[in-house]
Amino acid sequence: MSIRQPSSHKTVFDFLKQLQREIDAQDLYLELQRRGKKIGLATVYRALKTLHKQGSIQERMSTNGKSLYSATSFHQQHHLNCLHCQRSIVIDNCPINGKLDRWFQSQEFKVYYHTLEFFGLCTDCQEQEAFRQS
Ligand SMILES: [Zn+2]
Ligand SMILES: [Zn+2]
Repeated sequence: MSIRQPSSHKTVFDFLKQLQREIDAQDLYLELQRRGKKIGLATVYRALKTLHKQGSIQERMSTNGKSLYSATSFHQQHHLNCLHCQRSIVIDNCPINGKLDRWFQSQEFKVYYHTLEFFGLCTDCQEQEAFRQS
């Protein structure tokens, strides 16, 4: 079996690389339509699945349960998620970057990307909470 990639995969991947932010499958589909790309929603889902398997893109679950996709080259994968207002705050500095390289090598595991997700209350929501309890 040939491993040649359908051009739809390349379209989706190129779009995510240029986008430099996360997007869910539905919005990605709409954006591609807006740019005149003839690509169906089912094809978009299929492309995302394959690209994720290849380690070209990353997937993250948003607090409202939607899968968000972005290119793995785009290092914005660490978040503080507020369970109250559902805001995701990006952590700019990776606290573990490079620190585990040797350990991964010892596990003989090839890492494509990693994510870090923390869940709790943001500053605003903590203040609201404190106000409610007083
Ligand atoms: Zn909040
Ligand atoms: Zn990191």
